[in-house]
Amino acid sequence: MSLGARPILLAAALLALPLTSALALRGPVSRHPRGPLGGGQLIDGECPPRYPRCIALTFDDGPDYRTTPRLLRLLAERRLRVTFFAVGHRLDGDDLFHRRNRETLVEASRQGHTIAAHGYRHIVLDGLRPERLAFELDRTDQLITATLGRRPALFRAPFGLLGSRRAIDAVFSRGYTPAYWMLDTHDWEVRDPRAVLRNFRAALDGHPRGGVVLQHDTRPWSVSAVPLILNELDRRNAALIARGEAPYRMVGLGAFYRPLGHEAPRGMPLSRRRRHAHAPTPQASPETPLAGPQGAVSGASPSAGGSASSGLQPEGPAQAATR
Ligand SMILES: [Zn+2]
Repeated sequence: MSLGARPILLAAALLALPLTSALALRGPVSRHPRGPLGGGQLIDGECPPRYPRCIALTFDDGPDYRTTPRLLRLLAERRLRVTFFAVGHRLDGDDLFHRRNRETLVEASRQGHTIAAHGYRHIVLDGLRPERLAFELDRTDQLITATLGRRPALFRAPFGLLGSRRAIDAVFSRGYTPAYWMLDTHDWEVRDPRAVLRNFRAALDGHPRGGVVLQHDTRPWSVSAVPLILNELDRRNAALIARGEAPYRMVGLGAFYRPLGHEAPRGMPLSRRRRHAHAPTPQASPETPLAGPQGAVSGASPSAGGSASSGLQPEGPAQAATR
């Protein structure tokens, strides 16, 4: 946890165990279980104490059949498995774009990567009306489940913003484990693989034990940066080993998972790294104040998201989703 992680937001306090466990049974019913990483505590992205140093690669905002397959090849060459946080709208349609994206997601899953959820339109969840919030979560869940035959267990809030009581309740009540990151490559604000590498180095210098890395497989330069990042880790590992120190281990998000009931989540400022200035469009102030009571959860509609008839379908491609 960096020193900059100062403000312990109220949101973190809301993640206390009694809340999450009490709500765990109140989400939408599905015949598909979420799998082994579901319903756990917050994954804050910091390397767990049992590893001296570790790195977990994660890629958000895809799949994109134009950029993700190259990443899959690069990862296969290194025999690495990573986590993809998929955006629902990219899977939702019968045209070539959506079909190919679904095929890409299937291929990623087939290669052993973890597929997780990242909202439908990539909008800030805080402040959404209950039905809209339910759509963002449930429609994406439905699409990933329909594509892969199993439900995602991990959820990353768009922009890493998860602060309102209603949004937090909605995520936990559905049995998700929210996952954040520790090392931001800021690949959305550069266009050059070497710049992504520079950002990665700086992030790793700031968090020398490593942790969860954030990239976007929708950005070709970020995909191109992956071999550079891996080479950088190889170099650092060689130096560490030469000094008799433990190298970075490449791990999956399972290494960060802590099931509910073992210990309370530490104070995790949920909006800490949300400078992810893939800056969200300003939205109306949250309808539910952070201190709001349980009632907000009733917004978690049991209907598993809508189709076009829900009136919640986007009118066009979601621009923010590519960030
Ligand atoms: Zn994102």
